[in-house]
Amino acid sequence: MGYRMRYAEISVNSPVAQRRTFSYAIPQNLSIDVGQAVWVPFGEKLLQGIVTELSDYPAVEETKDIAGIIDPHPLLSSPHVALARWISTHYLSSLFDAVALMLPPGFKRRVVTSISSTTKESDISSLTSPQRHVLELIKRQGRVGLKEQEKTLGKKKAQTLVSQLIRRRLVARSYELESVKARPKVELYLSLATALDEAQREVARLSKKGANKQAALLTFLVQQFKPVSLAEARRRVNCGKAVVDALAKKGLVTVQHIQVKRDPLSSQHITPSQPLHLSAAQESAFKSIQSSLLEVAEKHISPPVFLLHGVTGSGKTEIYLQALAETVRLGKRGIVLVPEIALTPQTIERFASRFPDKVAILHSKLSLGEQFDEWWGIKNGEFDVVIGPRSAIFAPQPDLGLLVIDEEHEWTYKQHDKPPHYHARNVAIKLAELTGAVVILGSATPDVETYYHAQQEDYRLLQLPERVVPNENSPLPQVEVVDLKDELKAGNRSIFSRSLSQAIGKVLANNEQAILFLNRRGAATSIQCRNCGLVLRCKRCEVTLTYHSAEDTAVCHQCNYRIPAPQICPQCLSRRIKYLGLGTQKLEQETSHAFPQARSLRWDSDVTRQKHSHQEIFNKFRAHKADILIGTQMVAKGLDLPQVTLVGVVSADAGLYLPDFRAGERTFQLLIQVAGRAGRGSLGGKVIIQTYSPKHYAIQAAAKHDYALFYDKEIAYRRQLHNPPFSQLASLIYSHTNDALCQRKAERLRQHLLEERDAKGIADLSLIGPAPAFIHRLRGRFRWQLIIRGAELPTFLSQISIPQGWAIDIDPIGL
Ligand code: ADP
Ligand code: ZN
Ligand code: ZN
Repeated sequence: MGYRMRYAEISVNSPVAQRRTFSYAIPQNLSIDVGQAVWVPFGEKLLQGIVTELSDYPAVEETKDIAGIIDPHPLLSSPHVALARWISTHYLSSLFDAVALMLPPGFKRRVVTSISSTTKESDISSLTSPQRHVLELIKRQGRVGLKEQEKTLGKKKAQTLVSQLIRRRLVARSYELESVKARPKVELYLSLATALDEAQREVARLSKKGANKQAALLTFLVQQFKPVSLAEARRRVNCGKAVVDALAKKGLVTVQHIQVKRDPLSSQHITPSQPLHLSAAQESAFKSIQSSLLEVAEKHISPPVFLLHGVTGSGKTEIYLQALAETVRLGKRGIVLVPEIALTPQTIERFASRFPDKVAILHSKLSLGEQFDEWWGIKNGEFDVVIGPRSAIFAPQPDLGLLVIDEEHEWTYKQHDKPPHYHARNVAIKLAELTGAVVILGSATPDVETYYHAQQEDYRLLQLPERVVPNENSPLPQVEVVDLKDELKAGNRSIFSRSLSQAIGKVLANNEQAILFLNRRGAATSIQCRNCGLVLRCKRCEVTLTYHSAEDTAVCHQCNYRIPAPQICPQCLSRRIKYLGLGTQKLEQETSHAFPQARSLRWDSDVTRQKHSHQEIFNKFRAHKADILIGTQMVAKGLDLPQVTLVGVVSADAGLYLPDFRAGERTFQLLIQVAGRAGRGSLGGKVIIQTYSPKHYAIQAAAKHDYALFYDKEIAYRRQLHNPPFSQLASLIYSHTNDALCQRKAERLRQHLLEERDAKGIADLSLIGPAPAFIHRLRGRFRWQLIIRGAELPTFLSQISIPQGWAIDIDPIGL
């Protein structure tokens, strides 16, 4: 053993620790590495920690010793430790929360405290009688849990008595982890214990005696080449446990405990597949990636980030597959991220069939046991490819060579519901930098910020402008935009325009299928004039006003501008004011009303709460057990449904007027995705978009399948309004049961931030709000939001003491 560092910096599992690490001395007898999980004393407690750094000098004068090792092997690699630090700094999250993203499933466990008596024989005459009582109990039992003591004596009393006894050194505390939630799974396996000919003679003997079940089981085992699970054997031979025991007793079979893997793919039948012959466009994109992989492997270049911009069905996935194969050929491995919703068996099967037995799947819906086995399997290098939703970026995949992010523009890559508020795309790019891996970002509708980076040549742009057309009848579908104002003028008040109505009728007559899409998100309702199409907007922020029914007012969620909900249109003076807010449920009713002969099926989050329901709905529709599929964005994603010849967007406007500067982008992306569902088969297809704003650039561009048209408009707006990528945003939300208090706190922080800004002389930093958050009241708490716009916000904010109770989101996806 060579020279050993004497101190360790440790990220401690305590809310107090925040973004800091703490210095501990390494005891002589312990061998400690970066990434290792250890026990450390922290105040009165013993807590879990992860070693982030080793050093010769502590950061403080007084250090305690590391108390012990939790796992002999480091759980995090050095790049992962660095990644956790980056996440904590960039997203202003606690360091241990960032570390925890990379720990094995079931790791974060509670500590159980127990009390045992010391061997010291001392004078106990000075003890009070309750103290004596507790001490005797502990002595009698040797060791008791603190929890049990608390249960019998009451929490306060138990803790006080135990502390008093500890101070007198009569008892000592010790700590253990509560029992493991996930363990390796062990199953019973059967194998033959005798030579084959001996076993065959035995079969004959058993049959003669009429022990047919035993004979059958033995015959079955004779035919096997390797041990068979007990469950499998019993199923095949249809015998009870007694039959197995009888054979085991005679010494004819052996029963062994074997550790088995809980394999999420085991229930699926997978046929291996071969690489496809690439089209010219695919070939050229692939060649670029291939040569980068080679050059990176030979260390000639630092790894690039590719943006693979290809229309839906242009064969991006085939490129991922071949790039992964190339990565494996170079002795490396990959991770593929897909939006959670796209983690369909279809997608999984495509990867699993190209890399048989070499694909690991991480998914929140796997059992903890399955996750545990996959995690350790990955860490042990058993898989070439890991595939999963955003959290799969933290898989302990060794030898990273390629990171693929499919549908890179998807919101689901941002963890918005709990800290750390990381974005998996940014994390992937950082991880690639740390490990020397190549990144492929794939999308039909790249995030405007990503595309901007490609334009700036930070990323390398690869394009697949056309669908891979195995069949000439399947180009991008035709899109018709219907102006709903014209419908009203023609006296049609139904939610189906004449065009859409007709098209649905035709689909039904031809026994084809249709999808009706309604992008209704959240509870917000915007206010619109049905006569001239005017949507009420904030005079100051240009965003859509949100209708608050309780107060009958229209409110700007950006700056809190309020007006009474109008009775007449401020533009054309019409009284036909409409509150937009049609939901999928209502749409389903209207559909069965208008098309009583059609079988419809609804797909939204209300009907997909169970584990398999996504798959069930999909299978049902694919098997043509329904004619019309009605749904929210769920129906827009990556589904391949060849019998769908019509996609109707019932209202493109609901998403268009969300109070968010990304509303145009989201609408464009969704429309393109939805349109991509039509005409995937030989029957061709058509898309009808219903809107009150047919001239809106997002709708115009979507109708023409023209990303460039959309991007040029959008990036000009972004530049003009100084929105990302030309600035960075941070959202700060304060929540409390008292609305007025929230507002006051928010105003105070605003003042404080402005003072800090001016004191530091930062010019390009502006504050928006405070205003009620988009969801003003959540679970009984009011929420007020401040938005900061500027550059390098994490650096600015980390230097400011922000009071307790504020939730900070750097680069929020929605305002
Ligand atoms: P994307 O990921 O861009 O939506 P896919 O990779 O799913 O596109 O390809 C769309 C369809 O075209 C799939 O059915 C796929 O099997 C097929 N495909 C892709 N590349 C080729 C090719 N080179 N030759 C033949 N078929 C292909
Ligand atoms: Zn009007
Ligand atoms: Zn406003």
